[in-house]
Amino acid sequence: MIVDCHVHSLGVEKVDAILKGMDKAGIDRAVIFSPYPSPYMGREERIIPKTMAGVTRHLEFSYPNVTSEKQREAVEFIAGIQREAPDRVIGFIWLEPRLKDAVQILEWAVTSKELKGVKMIPDHWYPYDEFMYPIYRKAEELNIPILFHSGILYGFKDSSRFCRPVNYEVLLSFPNLRFALAHVSWPWVDECIALWGRFRAALEEIEGERKEVQMFIDATPGTPLIYRKDALQKVMAFGAEDYIMFGTDCTAGRLEYGKYHVERDLAILRQVIGVPKDTVDKFLGRNALRFLGLK
Ligand SMILES: [Zn+2]
Repeated sequence: MIVDCHVHSLGVEKVDAILKGMDKAGIDRAVIFSPYPSPYMGREERIIPKTMAGVTRHLEFSYPNVTSEKQREAVEFIAGIQREAPDRVIGFIWLEPRLKDAVQILEWAVTSKELKGVKMIPDHWYPYDEFMYPIYRKAEELNIPILFHSGILYGFKDSSRFCRPVNYEVLLSFPNLRFALAHVSWPWVDECIALWGRFRAALEEIEGERKEVQMFIDATPGTPLIYRKDALQKVMAFGAEDYIMFGTDCTAGRLEYGKYHVERDLAILRQVIGVPKDTVDKFLGRNALRFLGLK
């Protein structure tokens, strides 16, 4: 079972092309984010250059003039795709948390539209800002995971400072919230792994039932190839092999490129680092299913 935990939609894709790409790449299930609800939503050519394996795309998102209507439209789009292929597509809302009714929209997206999680990119807001707390509480209540961008951000102007891994330490206050940091937070890989260690330590401080660390690591590049072996090896050596997840950052219409991501990571894990097959299976799919609450 291969699960791609990190796929973008632009609001233009058709389910047939998505599934065809997944089949070519050997990807069984894909977490696909709704488009960001910018005024440019649905215009493929405007936003993202073509996906190439191993190349970090440039984004042009995050506008102050996002509206609740656009946000709902974005949810409807990905919910429609998910409805057509519920066994393959796992729809996430890419939420603009600065919307006044962000919490209500989130609840609607999950309870009425059956989306399975949230994606967010901090941009001129910090994950520890207090206005975020109601969103975290709602996600806990709905039992859905949040996948955050973390790491340097090409294309958002001066945004990288909002995306440092330690900014997410505040989530210790929301112990029932499962979350993941994308891109192994490159270039702050060590900081990302240290933060995971912080959450592992927190687990030991909490009394009660929970045995799972609430933080997962999304291995989507991010990491330029020369850093990748190092990053994955450190994650494994630090004991996070049950919490690292495969992802591509492909756009949903070009998931066939996922094939190269699978091949590259298999080669690094099996031939370069030399982890057992069981570890590869966790990385490629089983960890993501736990993150998603599907297993
Ligand atoms: Zn992404």
